[in-house]
Amino acid sequence: MTYKNYPMVSRVVFGRGSFNQLGDILEPKRLNERAPFIFLVDDVFKGNSWLTSRIPLAYDDQILYISADEEPKTSQVDELVEQIILSHKDRPSGIIGIGGGTILDLAKAISIMLTNEGEAKDYQGWDLVKYPAVYHVGVPTISGTGAEVSRTTVLTGPEKKLGINSDYTPFDQVILDPELTKDVPKDQWFYTGMDCYIHCIESLNGTYLNAFSQSYGEKAFQLCKEIFMDNDLSEKEMQDKLMMASWHGGMSIAYSQVGVAHAMSYGLSYLLGTKHGIGNCIVFDHLEEFYPEGVKLFKVMKAKHNIQLPQGICNELDDNEFDIMIDIALSLEPLWENALGKGWKQKISREKLLSLYKKM
Ligand code: NAD
Ligand code: ZN
Repeated sequence: MTYKNYPMVSRVVFGRGSFNQLGDILEPKRLNERAPFIFLVDDVFKGNSWLTSRIPLAYDDQILYISADEEPKTSQVDELVEQIILSHKDRPSGIIGIGGGTILDLAKAISIMLTNEGEAKDYQGWDLVKYPAVYHVGVPTISGTGAEVSRTTVLTGPEKKLGINSDYTPFDQVILDPELTKDVPKDQWFYTGMDCYIHCIESLNGTYLNAFSQSYGEKAFQLCKEIFMDNDLSEKEMQDKLMMASWHGGMSIAYSQVGVAHAMSYGLSYLLGTKHGIGNCIVFDHLEEFYPEGVKLFKVMKAKHNIQLPQGICNELDDNEFDIMIDIALSLEPLWENALGKGWKQKISREKLLSLYKKM
Protein backbone atom coordinates (compact mmCIF):
# COMPACT_ATOMS: atom_id res chain seq x y z
CA MET A 1 0.00 0.00 0.00
CA THR A 2 1.39 3.37 -1.00
CA TYR A 3 -0.28 6.37 0.58
CA LYS A 4 -0.87 9.61 -1.28
CA ASN A 5 1.80 12.25 -0.73
CA TYR A 6 0.15 15.44 -1.87
CA PRO A 7 1.32 19.02 -1.87
CA MET A 8 -1.00 21.66 -0.46
CA VAL A 9 -1.50 25.35 -1.02
CA SER A 10 1.63 26.84 0.58
CA ARG A 11 0.10 30.03 1.94
CA VAL A 12 -3.41 31.19 2.68
CA VAL A 13 -4.97 34.36 4.05
CA PHE A 14 -8.55 34.37 5.33
CA GLY A 15 -10.67 37.33 6.29
CA ARG A 16 -13.05 40.04 5.10
CA GLY A 17 -10.99 42.70 3.35
CA SER A 18 -7.89 40.49 3.08
CA PHE A 19 -7.91 41.18 -0.67
CA ASN A 20 -6.33 44.54 0.24
CA GLN A 21 -3.15 42.65 1.14
CA LEU A 22 -2.60 41.42 -2.41
CA GLY A 23 -0.02 44.13 -3.20
CA ASP A 24 2.06 43.36 -0.11
CA ILE A 25 1.88 39.66 -0.86
CA LEU A 26 3.01 40.04 -4.47
CA GLU A 27 5.77 42.60 -3.99
CA PRO A 28 8.54 40.20 -2.87
CA LYS A 29 7.57 37.79 -5.66
CA ARG A 30 8.37 40.19 -8.52
CA LEU A 31 11.33 38.74 -10.42
CA ASN A 32 12.29 42.00 -12.19
CA GLU A 33 10.66 45.05 -13.74
CA ARG A 34 10.22 43.32 -17.08
CA ALA A 35 8.52 40.26 -15.60
CA PRO A 36 4.89 41.27 -15.03
CA PHE A 37 2.12 39.99 -12.87
CA ILE A 38 -0.80 38.92 -15.03
CA PHE A 39 -4.22 39.24 -13.40
CA LEU A 40 -6.88 37.01 -14.92
CA VAL A 41 -10.14 38.56 -13.81
CA ASP A 42 -13.70 37.34 -14.40
CA ASP A 43 -15.21 39.84 -16.83
CA VAL A 44 -18.23 40.16 -14.56
CA PHE A 45 -15.97 42.60 -12.65
CA LYS A 46 -15.15 44.77 -15.65
CA GLY A 47 -16.03 48.33 -14.67
CA ASN A 48 -16.54 47.31 -11.03
CA SER A 49 -14.09 49.70 -9.38
CA TRP A 50 -14.86 48.39 -5.88
CA LEU A 51 -12.85 45.33 -6.87
CA THR A 52 -10.62 46.39 -9.76
CA SER A 53 -9.25 49.57 -8.15
CA ARG A 54 -7.66 47.32 -5.53
CA ILE A 55 -5.68 45.29 -8.05
CA PRO A 56 -2.09 46.47 -7.49
CA LEU A 57 -0.69 47.23 -10.97
CA ALA A 58 2.94 48.33 -11.55
CA TYR A 59 5.48 48.25 -14.43
CA ASP A 60 4.16 45.98 -17.21
CA ASP A 61 1.50 44.28 -15.10
CA GLN A 62 -1.65 43.49 -16.99
CA ILE A 63 -5.29 42.67 -16.34
CA LEU A 64 -6.92 40.18 -18.72
CA TYR A 65 -10.70 40.06 -18.40
CA ILE A 66 -12.00 36.59 -19.13
CA SER A 67 -15.57 35.39 -19.58
CA ALA A 68 -16.75 32.58 -17.31
CA ASP A 69 -19.74 31.82 -19.54
CA GLU A 70 -18.03 28.67 -20.75
CA GLU A 71 -15.79 26.29 -18.87
CA PRO A 72 -12.07 26.43 -19.69
CA LYS A 73 -10.76 24.71 -22.79
CA THR A 74 -7.25 23.48 -23.53
CA SER A 75 -7.19 25.60 -26.71
CA GLN A 76 -8.12 28.69 -24.68
CA VAL A 77 -5.22 28.02 -22.31
CA ASP A 78 -2.81 27.70 -25.27
CA GLU A 79 -4.04 30.97 -26.79
CA LEU A 80 -3.73 32.89 -23.54
CA VAL A 81 -0.23 31.54 -22.92
CA GLU A 82 0.84 32.63 -26.40
CA GLN A 83 -0.72 36.05 -25.93
CA ILE A 84 1.08 36.52 -22.60
CA ILE A 85 4.45 35.43 -24.00
CA LEU A 86 4.14 37.62 -27.08
CA SER A 87 3.11 40.77 -25.25
CA HIS A 88 5.82 40.82 -22.56
CA LYS A 89 9.60 40.93 -22.54
CA ASP A 90 10.09 38.37 -19.79
CA ARG A 91 8.19 35.38 -18.51
CA PRO A 92 5.66 36.61 -15.91
CA SER A 93 6.53 36.88 -12.24
CA GLY A 94 3.14 35.46 -11.42
CA ILE A 95 -0.40 34.65 -12.54
CA ILE A 96 -3.25 35.76 -10.32
CA GLY A 97 -6.72 34.34 -10.92
CA ILE A 98 -9.62 36.39 -9.54
CA GLY A 99 -13.00 34.71 -10.05
CA GLY A 100 -14.81 31.41 -9.71
CA GLY A 101 -13.67 27.89 -10.56
CA THR A 102 -13.49 28.76 -14.25
CA ILE A 103 -10.97 31.57 -13.76
CA LEU A 104 -9.05 29.76 -11.00
CA ASP A 105 -8.61 26.72 -13.24
CA LEU A 106 -7.43 28.90 -16.13
CA ALA A 107 -4.89 30.61 -13.87
CA LYS A 108 -3.51 27.26 -12.71
CA ALA A 109 -3.31 25.86 -16.24
CA ILE A 110 -1.65 28.97 -17.70
CA SER A 111 0.97 29.04 -14.95
CA ILE A 112 1.83 25.42 -15.79
CA MET A 113 1.92 25.94 -19.54
CA LEU A 114 4.27 28.93 -19.23
CA THR A 115 7.04 26.57 -18.11
CA ASN A 116 6.12 23.32 -19.86
CA GLU A 117 6.40 22.90 -23.61
CA GLY A 118 3.71 21.62 -25.95
CA GLU A 119 -0.03 22.05 -25.64
CA ALA A 120 -2.31 21.95 -22.61
CA LYS A 121 -4.05 18.84 -23.94
CA ASP A 122 -0.79 16.89 -23.63
CA TYR A 123 -0.96 17.30 -19.85
CA GLN A 124 -4.56 16.21 -19.20
CA GLY A 125 -4.19 13.27 -16.88
CA TRP A 126 -2.20 12.41 -13.80
CA ASP A 127 1.35 13.59 -13.08
CA LEU A 128 2.36 14.49 -16.63
CA VAL A 129 3.72 17.95 -15.77
CA LYS A 130 7.54 18.04 -15.79
CA TYR A 131 8.55 21.47 -14.52
CA PRO A 132 7.27 23.67 -11.68
CA ALA A 133 4.71 26.26 -12.74
CA VAL A 134 5.10 30.03 -12.60
CA TYR A 135 4.12 31.44 -9.15
CA HIS A 136 0.33 31.47 -9.05
CA VAL A 137 -2.25 32.96 -6.76
CA GLY A 138 -5.97 32.16 -6.43
CA VAL A 139 -8.58 34.65 -5.25
CA PRO A 140 -12.04 33.03 -5.28
CA THR A 141 -15.04 35.32 -5.76
CA ILE A 142 -17.67 32.57 -5.46
CA SER A 143 -17.53 29.58 -3.11
CA GLY A 144 -18.10 25.88 -3.59
CA THR A 145 -15.90 24.17 -6.16
CA GLY A 146 -12.82 23.74 -3.98
CA ALA A 147 -10.75 24.73 -7.03
CA GLU A 148 -8.86 27.10 -4.72
CA VAL A 149 -7.41 24.17 -2.81
CA SER A 150 -7.33 21.29 -5.29
CA ARG A 151 -4.50 19.61 -7.14
CA THR A 152 -6.29 19.73 -10.47
CA THR A 153 -7.41 22.13 -13.16
CA VAL A 154 -10.36 20.79 -15.11
CA LEU A 155 -10.12 21.41 -18.85
CA THR A 156 -12.17 20.39 -21.85
CA GLY A 157 -9.85 19.23 -24.61
CA PRO A 158 -10.42 17.92 -28.13
CA GLU A 159 -10.86 14.36 -26.89
CA LYS A 160 -11.73 14.54 -23.23
CA LYS A 161 -12.76 16.58 -20.27
CA LEU A 162 -10.03 15.84 -17.77
CA GLY A 163 -7.90 17.74 -15.31
CA ILE A 164 -4.21 18.49 -15.26
CA ASN A 165 -3.58 16.69 -11.96
CA SER A 166 -0.08 17.36 -10.71
CA ASP A 167 2.05 18.40 -7.78
CA TYR A 168 2.63 21.72 -9.55
CA THR A 169 -1.07 22.54 -9.97
CA PRO A 170 -2.01 23.83 -6.47
CA PHE A 171 -1.78 27.55 -5.86
CA ASP A 172 1.29 28.96 -4.12
CA GLN A 173 -0.95 31.47 -2.41
CA VAL A 174 -4.69 31.76 -1.87
CA ILE A 175 -6.57 34.78 -0.61
CA LEU A 176 -9.91 33.90 0.97
CA ASP A 177 -11.88 37.12 1.28
CA PRO A 178 -15.57 36.22 1.71
CA GLU A 179 -16.62 39.79 1.01
CA LEU A 180 -15.69 39.26 -2.65
CA THR A 181 -18.65 36.86 -2.96
CA LYS A 182 -21.29 39.37 -1.89
CA ASP A 183 -22.77 39.98 -5.35
CA VAL A 184 -23.06 36.39 -6.58
CA PRO A 185 -26.57 35.91 -8.05
CA LYS A 186 -28.86 33.68 -5.98
CA ASP A 187 -29.18 30.78 -8.44
CA GLN A 188 -25.44 30.65 -9.06
CA TRP A 189 -24.81 30.80 -5.31
CA PHE A 190 -26.98 27.71 -4.94
CA TYR A 191 -25.45 25.76 -7.85
CA THR A 192 -21.84 26.36 -6.87
CA GLY A 193 -22.68 25.90 -3.17
CA MET A 194 -24.29 22.56 -4.02
CA ASP A 195 -21.08 21.52 -5.77
CA CYS A 196 -19.53 21.66 -2.30
CA TYR A 197 -22.47 19.82 -0.73
CA ILE A 198 -22.22 17.08 -3.39
CA HIS A 199 -18.44 16.80 -2.84
CA CYS A 200 -19.25 16.03 0.82
CA ILE A 201 -21.96 13.47 0.05
CA GLU A 202 -19.85 11.67 -2.55
CA SER A 203 -16.75 11.67 -0.37
CA LEU A 204 -18.50 10.63 2.86
CA ASN A 205 -20.45 7.84 1.14
CA GLY A 206 -17.56 6.54 -0.95
CA THR A 207 -15.46 3.43 -0.48
CA TYR A 208 -12.27 5.55 -0.57
CA LEU A 209 -13.23 7.31 2.65
CA ASN A 210 -10.57 7.51 5.35
CA ALA A 211 -10.21 9.51 8.57
CA PHE A 212 -8.41 12.34 6.76
CA SER A 213 -11.12 12.98 4.17
CA GLN A 214 -13.87 12.22 6.68
CA SER A 215 -12.73 14.92 9.08
CA TYR A 216 -12.80 17.58 6.35
CA GLY A 217 -15.95 16.17 4.73
CA GLU A 218 -17.95 16.14 7.94
CA LYS A 219 -17.00 19.72 8.74
CA ALA A 220 -17.93 20.90 5.25
CA PHE A 221 -21.20 18.96 5.38
CA GLN A 222 -22.08 20.53 8.72
CA LEU A 223 -21.32 24.01 7.38
CA CYS A 224 -23.47 23.37 4.28
CA LYS A 225 -26.41 22.35 6.47
CA GLU A 226 -26.06 25.57 8.47
CA ILE A 227 -25.74 27.74 5.38
CA PHE A 228 -28.59 26.23 3.40
CA MET A 229 -30.96 25.22 6.23
CA ASP A 230 -30.59 27.64 9.16
CA ASN A 231 -32.76 30.72 9.10
CA ASP A 232 -30.82 32.89 11.51
CA LEU A 233 -27.45 33.34 9.80
CA SER A 234 -26.52 36.80 8.54
CA GLU A 235 -25.40 37.30 4.94
CA LYS A 236 -21.85 37.77 6.16
CA GLU A 237 -21.89 34.59 8.22
CA MET A 238 -23.21 32.69 5.22
CA GLN A 239 -20.44 34.06 3.00
CA ASP A 240 -17.73 33.27 5.55
CA LYS A 241 -19.02 29.77 6.19
CA LEU A 242 -19.48 28.84 2.53
CA MET A 243 -15.91 29.92 1.77
CA MET A 244 -14.65 27.60 4.49
CA ALA A 245 -17.01 24.80 3.46
CA SER A 246 -15.62 24.99 -0.08
CA TRP A 247 -12.07 24.70 1.22
CA HIS A 248 -12.90 21.75 3.48
CA GLY A 249 -14.93 20.00 0.78
CA GLY A 250 -11.96 20.32 -1.58
CA MET A 251 -9.62 18.95 1.08
CA SER A 252 -11.98 16.04 1.64
CA ILE A 253 -12.04 14.91 -2.00
CA ALA A 254 -8.27 15.38 -2.29
CA TYR A 255 -7.86 12.32 -0.09
CA SER A 256 -10.88 10.41 -1.39
CA GLN A 257 -12.78 10.97 -4.65
CA VAL A 258 -16.09 12.22 -6.01
CA GLY A 259 -18.73 9.81 -7.30
CA VAL A 260 -21.78 9.16 -9.48
CA ALA A 261 -23.04 12.75 -9.77
CA HIS A 262 -19.68 14.06 -10.97
CA ALA A 263 -19.16 11.19 -13.42
CA MET A 264 -22.56 11.79 -15.04
CA SER A 265 -22.26 15.55 -14.88
CA TYR A 266 -19.02 15.36 -16.88
CA GLY A 267 -21.03 13.58 -19.60
CA LEU A 268 -23.56 16.43 -19.73
CA SER A 269 -20.81 19.00 -19.74
CA TYR A 270 -18.83 17.33 -22.54
CA LEU A 271 -21.79 16.91 -24.87
CA LEU A 272 -24.06 19.84 -23.99
CA GLY A 273 -21.66 22.30 -22.36
CA THR A 274 -23.70 22.19 -19.14
CA LYS A 275 -21.71 23.98 -16.46
CA HIS A 276 -20.33 22.09 -13.49
CA GLY A 277 -22.48 23.43 -10.64
CA ILE A 278 -25.85 23.30 -12.38
CA GLY A 279 -24.96 20.02 -14.12
CA ASN A 280 -24.20 18.39 -10.78
CA CYS A 281 -27.56 19.60 -9.44
CA ILE A 282 -29.46 18.28 -12.48
CA VAL A 283 -27.85 14.86 -12.09
CA PHE A 284 -27.94 14.68 -8.29
CA ASP A 285 -31.69 15.33 -8.27
CA HIS A 286 -32.12 11.82 -9.80
CA LEU A 287 -29.65 9.84 -7.70
CA GLU A 288 -31.87 8.73 -4.78
CA GLU A 289 -30.86 5.11 -5.21
CA PHE A 290 -27.17 5.93 -4.80
CA TYR A 291 -27.35 8.67 -2.17
CA PRO A 292 -30.80 8.42 -0.51
CA GLU A 293 -30.21 10.72 2.47
CA GLY A 294 -28.11 13.22 0.52
CA VAL A 295 -30.68 13.57 -2.27
CA LYS A 296 -33.54 13.91 0.20
CA LEU A 297 -31.87 16.86 1.92
CA PHE A 298 -30.87 18.32 -1.45
CA LYS A 299 -34.53 18.42 -2.50
CA VAL A 300 -35.47 20.15 0.76
CA MET A 301 -32.77 22.79 0.23
CA LYS A 302 -33.79 23.25 -3.40
CA ALA A 303 -37.38 23.92 -2.38
CA LYS A 304 -36.39 26.15 0.54
CA HIS A 305 -34.39 28.41 -1.78
CA ASN A 306 -36.95 28.29 -4.56
CA ILE A 307 -34.60 26.90 -7.17
CA GLN A 308 -36.12 25.60 -10.42
CA LEU A 309 -33.72 23.27 -12.17
CA PRO A 310 -33.89 23.01 -15.96
CA GLN A 311 -35.94 19.98 -17.06
CA GLY A 312 -35.78 17.87 -20.19
CA ILE A 313 -32.29 18.88 -21.27
CA CYS A 314 -31.78 15.40 -22.81
CA ASN A 315 -35.16 15.25 -24.57
CA GLU A 316 -33.83 15.92 -28.06
CA LEU A 317 -30.79 13.66 -27.93
CA ASP A 318 -30.30 10.66 -30.23
CA ASP A 319 -28.79 7.26 -29.38
CA ASN A 320 -25.35 8.27 -30.54
CA GLU A 321 -25.36 11.33 -28.30
CA PHE A 322 -26.48 9.31 -25.29
CA ASP A 323 -23.63 6.89 -26.06
CA ILE A 324 -21.12 9.75 -26.00
CA MET A 325 -22.30 10.89 -22.58
CA ILE A 326 -22.29 7.34 -21.23
CA ASP A 327 -18.76 6.76 -22.57
CA ILE A 328 -17.50 9.93 -20.89
CA ALA A 329 -19.21 9.06 -17.60
CA LEU A 330 -17.93 5.47 -17.54
CA SER A 331 -14.40 6.49 -18.47
CA LEU A 332 -14.05 8.13 -15.05
CA GLU A 333 -13.22 4.82 -13.40
CA PRO A 334 -11.91 6.05 -10.02
CA LEU A 335 -15.19 7.91 -9.46
CA TRP A 336 -17.22 4.73 -9.98
CA GLU A 337 -14.86 2.66 -7.91
CA ASN A 338 -15.16 5.16 -5.09
CA ALA A 339 -18.95 5.22 -5.35
CA LEU A 340 -19.66 1.50 -5.79
CA GLY A 341 -16.52 -0.38 -4.78
CA LYS A 342 -14.09 -2.58 -6.67
CA GLY A 343 -16.86 -4.60 -8.32
CA TRP A 344 -18.48 -1.45 -9.75
CA LYS A 345 -18.58 -2.82 -13.30
CA GLN A 346 -21.09 -5.46 -12.16
CA LYS A 347 -23.19 -2.86 -10.38
CA ILE A 348 -23.70 -0.27 -13.11
CA SER A 349 -24.75 -0.78 -16.72
CA ARG A 350 -25.03 1.40 -19.80
CA GLU A 351 -28.80 0.80 -19.69
CA LYS A 352 -28.95 2.18 -16.17
CA LEU A 353 -27.07 5.33 -17.18
CA LEU A 354 -29.26 5.71 -20.25
CA SER A 355 -32.43 5.55 -18.18
CA LEU A 356 -31.04 8.15 -15.74
CA TYR A 357 -29.94 10.54 -18.50
CA LYS A 358 -33.37 10.20 -20.14
CA LYS A 359 -34.99 11.57 -16.96
CA MET A 360 -32.85 14.73 -16.99
P1 NAD B 1 -17.76 30.02 -12.50
O1 NAD B 1 -16.37 30.45 -12.31
O2 NAD B 1 -18.08 29.28 -13.75
O3 NAD B 1 -18.71 31.28 -12.40
C1 NAD B 1 -20.13 31.12 -12.41
C2 NAD B 1 -20.79 32.46 -12.66
O4 NAD B 1 -20.69 33.27 -11.50
C3 NAD B 1 -20.16 33.24 -13.80
O5 NAD B 1 -21.19 33.84 -14.53
C4 NAD B 1 -19.33 34.28 -13.08
O6 NAD B 1 -19.14 35.43 -13.86
C5 NAD B 1 -20.18 34.56 -11.87
N1 NAD B 1 -19.48 35.13 -10.70
C6 NAD B 1 -18.36 34.67 -10.09
N2 NAD B 1 -18.06 35.44 -9.02
C7 NAD B 1 -19.00 36.41 -8.96
C8 NAD B 1 -19.25 37.50 -8.07
N3 NAD B 1 -18.48 37.72 -6.99
N4 NAD B 1 -20.30 38.31 -8.32
C9 NAD B 1 -21.13 38.06 -9.38
N5 NAD B 1 -20.96 37.04 -10.23
C10 NAD B 1 -19.91 36.22 -10.03
O7 NAD B 1 -18.33 29.16 -11.28
P2 NAD B 1 -17.81 28.01 -10.38
O8 NAD B 1 -19.00 27.17 -10.11
O9 NAD B 1 -17.03 28.55 -9.24
O10 NAD B 1 -16.78 27.20 -11.27
C11 NAD B 1 -17.11 26.18 -12.18
C12 NAD B 1 -15.85 25.70 -12.82
O11 NAD B 1 -15.01 25.15 -11.81
C13 NAD B 1 -16.02 24.61 -13.86
O12 NAD B 1 -15.23 24.94 -14.97
C14 NAD B 1 -15.51 23.36 -13.18
O13 NAD B 1 -14.96 22.44 -14.09
C15 NAD B 1 -14.46 23.92 -12.27
N6 NAD B 1 -14.17 23.08 -11.11
C16 NAD B 1 -12.86 22.89 -10.80
C17 NAD B 1 -12.52 22.13 -9.71
C18 NAD B 1 -11.08 21.91 -9.39
O14 NAD B 1 -10.78 21.23 -8.43
N7 NAD B 1 -10.17 22.48 -10.13
C19 NAD B 1 -13.51 21.56 -8.90
C20 NAD B 1 -14.83 21.78 -9.23
C21 NAD B 1 -15.17 22.56 -10.33
ZN1 ZN C 1 -17.45 19.44 -8.20
